[in-house]
Amino acid sequence: MFDRLKNTEAGFPLKTPCYVIDEAVLIKNLEILRALEKRTGCKVLLAQKAFSMFALYPLIGQYISGTTASGLYEARLGYEEMRDREVHVFSPAYTDEDFAELVKICDCIVFNSCGQWEKFKTQIPKNISAGLRVNPEISTQNHAIYDPCAPFSRLGATLESIQEKDLTGIEGLHFHTLCEQDSDALEVTLDEFERKFSYLFSQLKWVNLGGGHHITRAGYDIERLVKCIERMKAYGLEVYIEPGEAVALNAGWLAASVLDVVHNGMALAILDVSAACHMPDVLEMPYRPQIVGAGEAGEKKHIYRLAGNTCLAGDVIGDYSFDYELKTGDKLLFCDMAIYSMVKNNTFNGMPLPSIAVLRKNGELEIIREFGYGDFKGRLS
Ligand SMILES: *Cc1c(COP(=O)(O)O)cnc(C)c1O
Repeated sequence: MFDRLKNTEAGFPLKTPCYVIDEAVLIKNLEILRALEKRTGCKVLLAQKAFSMFALYPLIGQYISGTTASGLYEARLGYEEMRDREVHVFSPAYTDEDFAELVKICDCIVFNSCGQWEKFKTQIPKNISAGLRVNPEISTQNHAIYDPCAPFSRLGATLESIQEKDLTGIEGLHFHTLCEQDSDALEVTLDEFERKFSYLFSQLKWVNLGGGHHITRAGYDIERLVKCIERMKAYGLEVYIEPGEAVALNAGWLAASVLDVVHNGMALAILDVSAACHMPDVLEMPYRPQIVGAGEAGEKKHIYRLAGNTCLAGDVIGDYSFDYELKTGDKLLFCDMAIYSMVKNNTFNGMPLPSIAVLRKNGELEIIREFGYGDFKGRLS
């Protein structure tokens, strides 16, 4: 992609900061997901939480069955921008106002508790399928912040909480417990899900195995995923999965510029992007994004701590090394920046939002959206 970007007329120097989505990689991912739908008869939904670049929804809608949302705004976005595809929603809790709007646009509404189901069940029109998110209470990962099965989790009803409750009318069960995982973790989860909740399967039409399936990552075990889906289909159930990451994995870059290089015990490069504003997962997860052409600290000759242009002392992206000395004006390309990036960014400290561009399959670079002062001021008063 780097070479493809360099070769475009608009290419480098690209006005930074800018997210650049590689349409060719997105399509490659979508082809894998479409093949899964065709082979197993399951339905794949885009979890918009990870990737809400709606300019590409018409394209995505050609490959997969629809979108899922975590509330009214995402549901509306899917409804408006991915026309004629399914709209699903799950929220930890619905407000009365939001629920009244959701029933106008959703195909499927998933509740997080029996209390929410009891509250809203009389307001659900016949054409909408109602589901319950359950918590299989089986952790398969160690990041508590991304583990809905961690102790005291609010996400999903436990078996204990639904016993002796009237679930007449619930047509589906939903779970979401994985994060960037392979299908062996799904299999472990499914064992527990089946053991705890299969007593309800005879009343159901569908199950939703959530997201966190890293399907489009090289080496992901698709055969095992297919077996898991077929295992649920054998109950006569429709199967949904709702990956976010897997849809746009490795399909984007964040292009940045070096604004200054300062020295304080080591060389520090100040960039026009910020960890706090543009890649919050770097601080939250935490993780270290790859940069095209850069190595681990110590791997190459010149080491720099890369940091953001805010006044937050901890706005540090990480330590990287380069074959050459960084200087003002140099461009850097951060990898895998399509997902959980533009959906999470913010204008803290008055930082500008990166523009959004697509590198089309034919090599053309198209700037889709640029932001300015109005976007900063518009959300304050
Ligand atoms: C976050 C989320 C997803 C998508 O997860 P990925 O890790 O991006 O695949 C799907 N479903 C629910 C309920 C989620 O909260």
